[in-house]
Amino acid sequence: MRLVVQKFGGSSVANAQRIMAAARRAIRAKQEGNQVIVVVSARGDTTDELIELAKEITEQPPAREMDMLLSTGEQISIALMAMAIQALGERAISFTGAQVGIVTDSTHTKARIKSISTARMRQALAEGQIVIVAGFQGIDENWNITTLGRGGSDTTAVALAAVMKHDAGEPGVSTPGYSDVGCEIYTDVDGVYTTDPRIVPEARKMDFISYDEMLELASVGAGVMHSRSIEFGKKFDVPIHVRSSFSDAEGTWIVPEAEWMRDVVVCGAALGRDEARISLNGVPDQPGVSHRVFAAMADHHIVVDMIAQNVGEGGKAAIGFTVLGNELPEALRVLRPLAAELGASIEFDEQVSKVSIVGTGMRTHSGVAERMFAALAAENVNMKMITTADIKISVLVSRKEGVKALRAVHQAFGLGQPRPGAGQPGGKGNHQFQRRPVGAVSPKTNRDLAALTQQLASMEDIVVSDVLLDTDQGRITIFGLPDKPGCCSRVFQAVASAGIIVDMIVQNLSLGRTELSFSVPQADLDRALKVTREVVAVLDPTTRVAADADIARLFVHGVGMRTHTGVARRMFGALAERGINISMINTSEVRISVVVDRARGEEALVCLKEAFNLV
Ligand code: ADP
Ligand code: ASP
Ligand code: MG
Repeated sequence: MRLVVQKFGGSSVANAQRIMAAARRAIRAKQEGNQVIVVVSARGDTTDELIELAKEITEQPPAREMDMLLSTGEQISIALMAMAIQALGERAISFTGAQVGIVTDSTHTKARIKSISTARMRQALAEGQIVIVAGFQGIDENWNITTLGRGGSDTTAVALAAVMKHDAGEPGVSTPGYSDVGCEIYTDVDGVYTTDPRIVPEARKMDFISYDEMLELASVGAGVMHSRSIEFGKKFDVPIHVRSSFSDAEGTWIVPEAEWMRDVVVCGAALGRDEARISLNGVPDQPGVSHRVFAAMADHHIVVDMIAQNVGEGGKAAIGFTVLGNELPEALRVLRPLAAELGASIEFDEQVSKVSIVGTGMRTHSGVAERMFAALAAENVNMKMITTADIKISVLVSRKEGVKALRAVHQAFGLGQPRPGAGQPGGKGNHQFQRRPVGAVSPKTNRDLAALTQQLASMEDIVVSDVLLDTDQGRITIFGLPDKPGCCSRVFQAVASAGIIVDMIVQNLSLGRTELSFSVPQADLDRALKVTREVVAVLDPTTRVAADADIARLFVHGVGMRTHTGVARRMFGALAERGINISMINTSEVRISVVVDRARGEEALVCLKEAFNLV
């Protein structure tokens, strides 16, 4: 028996006609011999309208009541969907999140799923019903209604597929083991594009994208999927098919990484429009300071995105980071007393957007950052902050230049052209999740699957799989580079022309000048220093360049590393406890890396392994 979870987004259930069309799809899947769970979002702009309604009453509605309000949008949709399916002659039953036991933590408006009980769904499916579940909502241990964050219905859908795939059901109750489980995300585009086609019309649809690529793209602004849904897909091995609710065309498959993807340097680009940059200037350059800053953010569940910590000078350092624009007031409220205590000043800029590129091939191809920076320089776009990670590079620009910057980057990487892997054969008809072609990596082993089943009890917990130490790199730091378009680009062009591969890049703006650090192989450090000095001398003779051979980099690998505010907290906390100073930080959904003194590298490795129970 196969199980298909079909999720219909807001526009796909916007009116009666579309609800009927979605109902027909669900019925068709059932008639093809599948068991079917349908997850629905609130209709059209209902959620936005409900938010407006709350604002008419009060500027700052209490989060618990907000969840109570917002959850009603999905409740309307499930009832209408059940009626539609029944009107078409099939059996269907609707459930709220609470009714199917989607238990979350109590972080109202952005709750995380803790567990889902499958009994009620299994029973209804066994009776031949199409099961309809409200997306985006759950219930906490005290019976409070919670919601999962905007766009969260995707996460409900993939989580349901995950739990149905791996949960063997109640002891003694006979439940079918599914031969195949997959998730279909029906939306108003026919798949995942190289960037938002509404912003860049020449964007192209991808046939396949890896979990990691989608995770990063979604987390940097590709609103087509809720990034946490991809965490579930990856962790629990659920293939996801994103497709149009208006046609039968094959969409985009989100799948494990395939060999050919490693040759695709950049698969997509995204714009995070509403970002805010915060700088803490003049913090003591001491162990434990970043820990205190990020712990304070984590305690308030504020997701910190780009982090650029300057290399300290004269005992002082600057920590720059970004948060979502709507979280700025809260972040500032939390930071003010802390900054006062640390003797630091706070600077912020709420008119910034973030342009990012993502691609598996970045791991092995050089010169990617340089190409991105050159494209931005050619458009005269100034970069206010740069961070790089394993498979993504993000640049902060002024908000009014965001769209221009996105287009320039999209064009520079030829993303409008057909990409390798495009046109590969699709899923061979509907609902054949096991036969996804792609040359996809073999399914997980039985042992992995047993471990997964155990994880169902704490579904959305952090998964940290590995901590690695690298002592093969050295660092170049440029102090006080002019804050003008083209400067960074010139530096990286020069370094690239010398055949030197740059890995980690962090650029931070403080007090009107930028500080730029990057790592290069130890063997190339002296050459990199020379080349950098030469190019910088032309740009501004007062700028200073230093090389540091004594660094160690530590990488913490996992899934959903950034959005789980607790990961960075635990990581910085463990290092702070040992008195190990952090001099560079990079974050992404699949990896967080820090730079420490080489002499403390081994010790830092052991302490991080202990912190994440990997010993
Ligand atoms: P739904 O209501 O179905 O969940 P969303 O509005 O959340 O739909 O997501 C679909 C929208 O995501 C598209 O209309 C598109 O404008 C936007 N989008 C952003 N980035 C991408 C991308 N890379 N590929 C496709 N669509 C994208
Ligand atoms: N209705 C919710 C929202 O608009 C959840 C979703 O659509 O996924 O954010
Ligand atoms: Mg959505």
